[in-house]
Amino acid sequence: MQMRPLFGEEEKKAICEYMDEDGFITEFKRTQEFEKMIAEFTGAKHCIAVNNGTISLTLAAMAAGVEAGDEVIVPNYTMIASPNSLKMFGAVPVFVDVEESTLCLDINLVEAAITPKTKAIMLVSANGRYPDAGIEQFLALCEKHNLKLIEDSAQSLGSYYPDGTHIGCKGLVGSFSFSAPKIISTGQGGAIITDDDDVALRLRRLKDFGRDGGGTDVHESIGFNFKFTELQACIGIEQMKKLSERVERKKAIFLRYKAGLEGVEQVKLFENNVSTTAPWFYDALVERREDLIAHLKGKGIGSRVMYPPINQQRAYAEDGSYPTSELIGEKGLWLPSAVQLTDEEIDYIIESIKEFY
Ligand SMILES: *Cc1c(COP(=O)(O)O)cnc(C)c1O
Repeated sequence: MQMRPLFGEEEKKAICEYMDEDGFITEFKRTQEFEKMIAEFTGAKHCIAVNNGTISLTLAAMAAGVEAGDEVIVPNYTMIASPNSLKMFGAVPVFVDVEESTLCLDINLVEAAITPKTKAIMLVSANGRYPDAGIEQFLALCEKHNLKLIEDSAQSLGSYYPDGTHIGCKGLVGSFSFSAPKIISTGQGGAIITDDDDVALRLRRLKDFGRDGGGTDVHESIGFNFKFTELQACIGIEQMKKLSERVERKKAIFLRYKAGLEGVEQVKLFENNVSTTAPWFYDALVERREDLIAHLKGKGIGSRVMYPPINQQRAYAEDGSYPTSELIGEKGLWLPSAVQLTDEEIDYIIESIKEFY
């Protein structure tokens, strides 16, 4: 398998303990503790847990003031959730190509795509990386055009900007996902971080019927129900305790792949600066991709084709020229990326790739 989540006895025990002491299951103290752990880990003032990392983007955009009909710039290479989170309430994703070095938005193309309808930029820190131009350039661009910066940091828990700020903390809002493939998982789950008190209040109301706390039927604004559960929080708390160790392991796995694949010119591993980035997946451009996948599969090794260009997905089917996302669509491959991979397994994967070429 290319990826599988990792849970242990600690998670099982935490759920059993919770079930012995409380029976509401819906979000309460465990969720608050989980939110506090994420806020402390990232250095954000507020953290709001929600049911997944797509809704977290929807709510982040709504809380940032994006409305139906507004345009938001989104990379053409990302998980489909990034643009779909905007479609959810009628906002319009405008696709822009990514840089070949980091697979993050290309700032020059972003500037060219800004129109009077543009309200925000959704910056996806692909794989825990940040754009080459630097985040300060993005903040300056937002300032110049009066845009909100929404960070889709779903792949970046444990990754930082060069100044030591956690990814997700530079924008007005940062969004995380705890779906099965992410560095920590609660099965499904998401969270939004922000330093802005008003935005935090809006997010809490948006996820809970527009009210300020459970057990009341007084509603301040329109809100929905995107709440978390205590069972997920029990798991999330235990997963957070394991995060730092996983960050180190993700980096070590990358360095082992990199050393092992050096000189294999048909495999171009994307670079990660491990002093800042905890690579989520090990992404590469490979020659004869489909044959390599089949060869690896025959050896019991799972790999996965990277995201196709979003504009070419049937869900969007928009015209346009996006050379970098098209290149990834043709040659991009994720190598096995589970945190539990052993050194022996990685060496076996490397040997199998070499054997193929
Ligand atoms: C995983 C992911 C999401 C979606 O998160 P879910 O929790 O699966 O809804 C959004 N954006 C990016 C970049 C992701 O990797």
